[in-house]
Amino acid sequence: MAALGEVRNLQIYHPWDTLILARDFSLRAKTITAPDGLSVLQVQQTIIACERCARLREYCRGIGETRRRSYRDQEYWAKPVPGFGDPRARILVLGLAPGAHGANRTGRPFTGDGSGDFMYPVLYELGLASKPQAISRDDGLRLRKLWIGSVVRCAPPGDKPTPQEVRNCSVHLAAEVEALSKVRVVVCLGKIAWDGYLAHLLQQGTIERRSAYVFGHGAEYKLSNGTVLLGSYHPSLRNTNTGRLNRPMFLRIFVRAMEVAGIG
Ligand code: SF4
Repeated sequence: MAALGEVRNLQIYHPWDTLILARDFSLRAKTITAPDGLSVLQVQQTIIACERCARLREYCRGIGETRRRSYRDQEYWAKPVPGFGDPRARILVLGLAPGAHGANRTGRPFTGDGSGDFMYPVLYELGLASKPQAISRDDGLRLRKLWIGSVVRCAPPGDKPTPQEVRNCSVHLAAEVEALSKVRVVVCLGKIAWDGYLAHLLQQGTIERRSAYVFGHGAEYKLSNGTVLLGSYHPSLRNTNTGRLNRPMFLRIFVRAMEVAGIG
């Protein structure tokens, strides 16, 4: 598979098909292309064009038409939301799915919602993000050695995708994982993301049974392919407002992820 183009300096692929130079970061990178698969840019484009789940596509478009009153003057993205970040990421973060008025509105994971407001300051403090806030897909935010995706790419009603929808979307996760060949640590935010990633590992033959991998905050497993799996409670308002997940707890997950990934 041919690469789409050579990248000088570190460039971050954004879902709206532009390349933005990350001048703040000194790494040099080439377009990352999996040996037999797609580049991260091609994976992003494939996700954006996906129409596999009629229920979810209809729901996302409908949300984009009705809109929340406070966002009435904004045009919603309303398409599947691809992952974004550093193509040479050593840490992959997986969430559940875009929020109806968050990523489904802005077009970028954890952007413009309460979960992102909790997560990005932590990533910024650790040098994994260039800014502590994620407001819109053109806010200039860049990630370093980190990629953020989700197991389902379209906002589901009630944040509850059906098992079939998770299975439908697993093809995108597989392509993304293959394209991100430098990943050493996968941080799953919440049990649905954990289960979705385990299903991927099962399909790949990396694990034999899911029951051996029990989700919990701080759960850690070394996989036979050398990757480390880390569990974290999801930074949803439901968890952060109730104190189930607080900032020190979340920070520790990423400190550990950086340690395992060898990021200084
Ligand atoms: S959830 Fe995934 S598989 Fe289903 S339509 Fe969206 S991108 Fe496609």
